[in-house]
Amino acid sequence: MLRCPECGKGAVFAAYLRFRDACAVCNADFKSADAGDGPAVFVILIVGAIVAPLLIFLQVGLDLPDTLALAITIAAAVALCLAFLPPFKATLFALQWKHKAREATHEDVE
Ligand SMILES: [Zn+2]
Repeated sequence: MLRCPECGKGAVFAAYLRFRDACAVCNADFKSADAGDGPAVFVILIVGAIVAPLLIFLQVGLDLPDTLALAITIAAAVALCLAFLPPFKATLFALQWKHKAREATHEDVE
């Protein structure tokens, strides 16, 4: 829901895909927030599964010209990626927060 994983009220993003330093409501520290490439991987897989059949449908089902079908598919892919990235990034951050995930250190090996 793009909200703080601690209190569920404060916004997690200061701008599109940029985390706040801290929650404005409960002051939870977001400086260590780093979802890495995780959100992009999920979004690529999901958007690919949507737009690949779309391209086939536009070309074969509706018999649109190739360039028009490709232009529609690319526009749909870009729009879906931009729409899906914030909720996926916030969700992965919330999962990291809940499970206290962090980078492994030498102390973890000993
Ligand atoms: Zn909060």
